[in-house]
Amino acid sequence: MMKPDCLVAGGGIIGLMTARELRKEGLSVTLVERRQVGQEASWASSGILSPMYPWRHPPAVTVLTRWAELRYEQVAGLLQEESGIDPEWRLSGMLILDREEKEPALQWAAQHGVAMQWLQSDELHEIEPHVNRREFETALWMPRAAQIRPPRLLRALQVSARRIGVKVLEDTPVLSLISRNGKITGVETPSGPLEAECVVIATGAWSRTFLDESQVNVDIRPVRGQIVLFQGAPGWLTRMLMHRDQYLVPRADGHILAGSTVEHVGFDKQTTAAAAETLRQASRRMVPALDRYPIEKQWAGLRPGRENNIPVIGRHPTLEGLYINAGHFRCGVVMAPASARLLADLILGRTPIVDPRPYAL
Ligand SMILES: Cc1cc2nc3c(=O)[nH]c(=O)nc-3n(C[C@H](O)[C@H](O)[C@H](O)COP(=O)(O)OP(=O)(O)OC[C@H]3O[C@@H](n4cnc5c(N)ncnc54)[C@H](O)[C@@H]3O)c2cc1C
Repeated sequence: MMKPDCLVAGGGIIGLMTARELRKEGLSVTLVERRQVGQEASWASSGILSPMYPWRHPPAVTVLTRWAELRYEQVAGLLQEESGIDPEWRLSGMLILDREEKEPALQWAAQHGVAMQWLQSDELHEIEPHVNRREFETALWMPRAAQIRPPRLLRALQVSARRIGVKVLEDTPVLSLISRNGKITGVETPSGPLEAECVVIATGAWSRTFLDESQVNVDIRPVRGQIVLFQGAPGWLTRMLMHRDQYLVPRADGHILAGSTVEHVGFDKQTTAAAAETLRQASRRMVPALDRYPIEKQWAGLRPGRENNIPVIGRHPTLEGLYINAGHFRCGVVMAPASARLLADLILGRTPIVDPRPYAL
């Protein structure tokens, strides 16, 4: 096989977007996925294109997420053109029902130029009539908060990446890194070594193994998130809702996704009845009439957990040619376009879109 300029390990949203970005700049790129592309955390995610309670996060998260949020509609449109698959980017807006968040939220919104309003009861129940009237009389309204359908986004990304010439190798786990004289030369796989000038680790919750192996300790840990899906009706609920760290995301086809748990249980992706019950109760509290709809599905994914949601994006401190794009925790879908672009800037030696220092190893 011809030696690619760059080999990307991991076929989640971060690996796919990074591979696509590098290929678009003319590099030859091979993406290596241990199973099937787009089936792990990225697939399991809710597709909310904003951090939850964005004012609670450090500036490094705001900078990346704002960069991406402002461009997501365009990215989704391009992917649809390139792949023929609609990732269903939608400006559904988000209602945040936690009263005590009012002051910090409005302050943050004013500081960052983010559209946000404080709604009184009439306004709240007019725009979302099924919200629990007994419990919630006010809400923060973020009209520019958007959502996307992750499984569709991943299929679109995969088709687009292949069409523009990214070589995708599935069922090919990267077993270890290969280096010579302080420089990366490729990776080891069960079918033999793959050579490359540059290697990007984008293996999500599984990234730590490679970094430990390269003598760098990074605190990326799996954090399980479970979701249940209600079989609702189209147009019945239209806004995303959030209360006490739980949320509802209504899809255009009537499905309503309720998430999510945050569980430190290692690499265990099983779903539990207890989580389904917790999610059902939190959903019912926000929207009591949800009771009439059955739960159609439940699933879990392993987030690449990291302190403060700040991912690692940049070059390895000692191994030349090794790069990392991992640890996006709860914001990987929204951050992906910015994260991929920032890493491509660093690999290509371009002026980076944002200051890369907060994400450096
Ligand atoms: C329930 C849930 C809800 C979420 N909701 C949101 C949300 O609304 N908005 C948001 O922005 N984020 C959300 N997230 C977080 C988001 O999903 C993650 O931050 C993001 O998907 C991480 O992407 P990734 O590509 O790094 O990881 P992954 O999608 O997990 O991809 C990593 C890939 O690497 C592969 N891999 C692992 N080891 C190897 C190896 N040795 N060799 C080759 N390949 C390997 C895996 O098979 C996998 O395909 C949510 C996550 C969960 C679980």
